[in-house]
Amino acid sequence: MEKTITDSLIQTVEYAVAKSPFYSNYQQLIAKPFSLDAFKKLPFTSKDDLAVSNADFLAVNKDNIADYSTTSGTSGEAVTVFLTQNDLKRLAKNEAHSLRLTGATEKDLFQLTTTIDRQFMAGLAYYLGVQEIGAGMIRIGPGVPELQWSSILKNQPTILIAVPSFVITLLDYAKKNHIDVAATSIQKIVCVGEAIHEDDLSYNILGKRILENWDVQLYSTYASTEMGAAFTECEAQNGCHLNEDLLYLEVLNDAGDAVSDGEIGEIVVTTLNVEGTPLLRYKTGDLARVYTSPCACGRTSPRLGPIIGRKNQLIKFKGTTIFPKAIFEIFDAIPQISCYKIEVSKDYLGNDALTVLLEKQLESSGLMPQIVEHCKSNLRVVPHFIFLENEYLRNQVFKKNSRKPEKISFKN
Ligand SMILES: [Zn+2]
Repeated sequence: MEKTITDSLIQTVEYAVAKSPFYSNYQQLIAKPFSLDAFKKLPFTSKDDLAVSNADFLAVNKDNIADYSTTSGTSGEAVTVFLTQNDLKRLAKNEAHSLRLTGATEKDLFQLTTTIDRQFMAGLAYYLGVQEIGAGMIRIGPGVPELQWSSILKNQPTILIAVPSFVITLLDYAKKNHIDVAATSIQKIVCVGEAIHEDDLSYNILGKRILENWDVQLYSTYASTEMGAAFTECEAQNGCHLNEDLLYLEVLNDAGDAVSDGEIGEIVVTTLNVEGTPLLRYKTGDLARVYTSPCACGRTSPRLGPIIGRKNQLIKFKGTTIFPKAIFEIFDAIPQISCYKIEVSKDYLGNDALTVLLEKQLESSGLMPQIVEHCKSNLRVVPHFIFLENEYLRNQVFKKNSRKPEKISFKN
């Protein structure tokens, strides 16, 4: 790990303290010469801080805001991330870097299967990044498998930007409609919002299920609106690379100390050179392993493994704690299931109770005894099952107001 503080990090902290009302009281904490040790003693910024004091994070005059992006806050209400013109340029630079890591060039044609409007940053970032590398973009947006396929067949895009669960839906549609996916123009899929790797970086069930049915290259990404930057896998497929020009990364244990190479910790970021909504030591709540040894691709930037879970998404069963991932793996592994949703609520003892929403045809498919057995052996609990019309269920998972598929929801 580096011992000295970079100019970029010093400038970022000084700018935030000078311009952001939220950080104005940090003045006495940044006595000169400001060191990395002093930086690591700065208080953390939490998601709650951003939600409760949202307007105090704005570090420019309102006139200078070029884009109002939102993300969901801790209690479900929208939190605004304000971007200036320069922040949009930073976003374009970030996404161009990210897409280049996947080997994309100006010769590629992208098809966007995620939302670009409704104040989402991600779709905008992909659009700006594709323009920055000089490639082309077809903005289909989320859902509508029929439209996705008619565009793929007509326009011949080479790269899809998609949520992995939605790729399963696309494959399902292709199968039912006799579309030969092997004969299509798609070579790569930039996967957003969900993990496609296991903890050991091999493909998880979702990743395998896509690759068994489609000869494409999958690239994993990890990003958030607050960071305004993405971690992306390179062609070595060895974890998602940090873009060191845009973020300062810390991966910390519960005591707030940096974890060592290969260990799990919470991802904490400081946004570098952000004008509108700078964030210092922002706790994302996301847990992942960090790899600091050089990558097989030759790059030396730290890499993150798949997101193992969120700190607030641990499920408690009879004294044991499990991550939603363990439940996803059961349902992702069943080829007859192309869409499902888990609902977690509290029972009268304060334990979590599980309900799984499934597609209507499964109720009479004869598969249920097998699913129940899988749940018993892997989770030691049998969830309650509810069967829904396919389209209704799909709308519960791929929500118009959400950036990621909502495969799980928590009700208290
Ligand atoms: Zn690499």
